[in-house]
Amino acid sequence: MAIQTIQSVNEMQSHSIGLRSSGHLIGLVPTMGSLHEGHLSLIDIAKEKTDKVIVSIFVNPTQFGPNEDFDKYPRTLKEDCEKCHQRGADIIFNPTIQEMYPGGYSTFVEEEQISSGLCGVSRPHHLRGVTTVCLKLFNITRPDIAVFGRKDAQQCAVIRKMVLDLNIPTEIVVGPTQRDADGMATSSRNAYLSDKQRKEALNISNSLQIARDMVNSGTKSVDRIVAEVIHHLSHSRRIRVIYVQVVDRSTMEPAREILPGTQQLCVAAWVDQTRLIDNIEL
Ligand code: AMP
Repeated sequence: MAIQTIQSVNEMQSHSIGLRSSGHLIGLVPTMGSLHEGHLSLIDIAKEKTDKVIVSIFVNPTQFGPNEDFDKYPRTLKEDCEKCHQRGADIIFNPTIQEMYPGGYSTFVEEEQISSGLCGVSRPHHLRGVTTVCLKLFNITRPDIAVFGRKDAQQCAVIRKMVLDLNIPTEIVVGPTQRDADGMATSSRNAYLSDKQRKEALNISNSLQIARDMVNSGTKSVDRIVAEVIHHLSHSRRIRVIYVQVVDRSTMEPAREILPGTQQLCVAAWVDQTRLIDNIEL
């Protein structure tokens, strides 16, 4: 039997309300599809904590800038449905753009502090698009918990803050970053990389490891760690650094000195035409 797929906002909302009133706990895993082990691990977490797991698959136009990769973003709905089914999800919510943003749509949700640094600088409207679509997905699917991946650490912090500030009755759970055997974080955008580019992109996760090793061996200077990471990335002529920053894990404020257990190093970089992000807790 195929997994239940819902496209209509009204149908999804009334289905969720029905599930809740019959006593089910709902878990939501919001995604843009092209599912990989990172997404699937979040389904596992949602299944542990709830008894009805909804996976939303929606390439959200409002979180892409005008010259970004919205058009070429990989769309693999058939395979995604199969993966969700195999992993034990219950429902796929796959609305059209028209369903989510009908003509005349004009309301956006914006977190103003945590969103201001890191990706907020190079992708000015990205996090506003993320908070807007997540609040809409929360209102449509009424989840008891929603599961996000640490790979998008700033996004997790912003969603947590939105839930706190707007009194949203959904618990936010964050799952660990899933990596390929060589350490590279799984990402839908890895599909853009040729073998050569992927090899160079591996420098990103390797550089995070270098930072972790420096902290483990007692380095306290954030400047030294950042310089070392940038130096490592500069060996690759395909890589252009967007940012390398040590920040507090919950506020995303830049750190001056290492306080082990409270911070993370975040990296964003272009590998030729592909923008990748990764981070490591220090
Ligand atoms: P996306 O489809 O890229 O918007 O991601 C959907 C969710 O999957 C977000 O919560 C991401 O943080 C999470 N995610 C993406 N890549 C990974 C990964 N490698 N490990 C864990 N979670 C991930």
